[in-house]
Formats: sequence, C-alpha cells, structure tokens
Amino acid sequence: MMKYIGAHVSVEGGVDNAPINAHNIGALSFALFTRNPSRWKSAELKPKAVDKFKENCEKYGFAPDFILPHDSYLINLGHPDSEKLQISRDAFLDEFRRCETLGLKLLNFHPGSHLNGMPLENCLERIAESINVTLDQTSGVTAVIENTAGQGTNVGYKFEHLAQIIDKVEDKSRVGVCIDTCHAFAAGYDFSTKTSYDAVWNEFEQIVGFKYLRGMHINDTKKGLASHVDRHESIGKGLLGREFFELLMRDNRFDNIPLVLETPNMDLWPEEIAWLKKESKE
Ligand SMILES: [Zn+2]
Ligand SMILES: [Zn+2]
Repeated sequence: MMKYIGAHVSVEGGVDNAPINAHNIGALSFALFTRNPSRWKSAELKPKAVDKFKENCEKYGFAPDFILPHDSYLINLGHPDSEKLQISRDAFLDEFRRCETLGLKLLNFHPGSHLNGMPLENCLERIAESINVTLDQTSGVTAVIENTAGQGTNVGYKFEHLAQIIDKVEDKSRVGVCIDTCHAFAAGYDFSTKTSYDAVWNEFEQIVGFKYLRGMHINDTKKGLASHVDRHESIGKGLLGREFFELLMRDNRFDNIPLVLETPNMDLWPEEIAWLKKESKE
C-alpha cells in the first residue's frame, strides 16, 4: 500500500514529455491535458508521440491507474442549451478517444454549470446523460467526476451532487470521483482538524463511497471555508495547513490512487512531493 503522489505536469513539446516531467520531480503519478484545455479544436495526437508516451510511461514506471488526464475547461456536460451541449459532448467524446489511444483508463472532468438556465437537479441529470452517451461509444476509460468549489453556477460542490450523477450513470463500473481538497474546503467541507476530518470523510463514505474514489487533487486553499472561490495554494501555506496533509498521508483510504498536486508554485513541486512522501511513511 502506498501513496502515489504526483502533479499536473506540462505537455509542452508533446504528450510524451509528461512522464519525463513527472519523473523529474519525483512524482509517482501525474495528470496532463491531452489537448489544449482552452480551445475547442485541437490537432490529432501524432502516432509517434503516442508510441513515445507509452514508452516513457513504461520506462519511468507510470501505470495507467496512476495517470489522471484532465479534460478541457470549455466543456459543460450540463449545458442548458441543447446545441451547445452537443458541442461539449462531441469534445468530451474526443477527450475519451484520446485516452483510449494513449492506453489510459481515467478521465477527470468538472461536472458542469447550469448557467441559471435550468434547475440544478436537471443539470445533474443532463450530466449523467452526457456520461452515459459517452460511455456507450467508448471502452476501457472511466469517467472521473471532480467536486467543485461551487463558483458561479458550477454544480458538483456537494457530495450529494456527485452521488446523484453516479446514481443515473448506467455503467457503474466506469464512473468514479476525484476529490479536490481545495474545492471541498471552499465548498464548505471543513476537514482542517482531526475531528472535522473524520466527520467529512465519514460523510463522503455514506453519501458517495470510497469505492468510487479514483483520484485526488491535493491542494491547499487561499480562500475561506464555504467561500465558493477556487484559489489553490501551496501545501501547508493555506487555510488547510500542514496538519490536514499529514492526516491525509497517514490515511490508508487514499492508498493506491493518483494524488495529484495542482498547487500554484511549480518550483515547489519536488519539495512538496518529497515532504508528502515522507509524511506517508510515518
Ligand atoms: Zn482540481
Ligand atoms: Zn481548482
């Protein structure tokens, strides 16, 4: 049992650079974008880069279970407008296909936003439907829903939202969640002390279930509890603090899944990874 700590690394120069970048900072897992996250259109993956990516993952010991690709920020799987929803679904399918091509097993995404165009409940249903139509057309890749801070009209900030989406997904074997610690705190889940930590994770087990936990984004936070503002901070430098990350690293419920840093200062990643690894062994 161990903690697979990593970071969301750059793909500059090609996806095949991601495992190299991860290896260079001492990561045991990593996240990446397989296409430009802020554009609708993206060039096809080049067969050479795909081969090199697989080769590098093998060379540096990154198994697909510990690679957590993140989809484009533009995609809204719960869009109230049906034409715009279709554009998002098409892009989401392309994200899935890229994961298939790269031999990856997980795709992490933000659930979506109702944009005040429909009730939250309907938006959650629409997201589940988007997942269903995508899973129907693909194989081997699990849809990993990330909890949000609840900024603007983003849904997915409560464990109940994640559970409601999962409930409507037909193939339960290919749906999971990724809990972002910054987002959870900003959404109102206070796990910064031992007592509150236990209470939050008990609630998570009851409402969603650890069996669906396929990855984590381990970030400290600049903004307060229930602020609904998503601002990541370096480990131990924000409102969650070192004690929280010590608890997390000693908790075996977080073993054997990718634990990915999205902290703002990349220069600190080697140090943050080394410290977290050390804490996980104590
Ligand atoms: Zn995140
Ligand atoms: Zn965030």
